[in-house]
Amino acid sequence: MAYIYIPSMWRTLKPRYRLIGAKCRKCGMICFPPRRICMKCGETDNFEEVKLSGRGKVYSYTIIARGATVYEHRREGLSGGAFPIALIELEEGIRVLGQITDCKPEEVRIGMEVEVVFRRIYEQDGIIRYGYKFRPVRFRKIKERKA
Ligand SMILES: [Zn+2]
Repeated sequence: MAYIYIPSMWRTLKPRYRLIGAKCRKCGMICFPPRRICMKCGETDNFEEVKLSGRGKVYSYTIIARGATVYEHRREGLSGGAFPIALIELEEGIRVLGQITDCKPEEVRIGMEVEVVFRRIYEQDGIIRYGYKFRPVRFRKIKERKA
């Protein structure tokens, strides 16, 4: 059973809420979530924060069946239907995993343009945990046309 570990939650809150990555000062590699050791060159504790654009394309995806979720997502997993989880390749070239929202599972396509949105992820012991999801860019385009 997965469980929220409060100190860990607070430590990772800022990157989770704001999509902040860490850029290695030695080789320029960006990682998200931030870590202490560069995956490319092995440099330790030598990163600067970078705000990720939150825009990218679906690299790969899968559909999670209704109820087939990890423990902390069980309520959402049972109340909703199937939902898509995708590996998103961000404009910065890194890949992050996230739920696709505001679209039907059957509408998700590889290469589909998406952007980040912040949403409620799940609730546990009265703590509502928010995080990022991705939605198709078409929603923003429709809004711009109306304006
Ligand atoms: Zn590096």
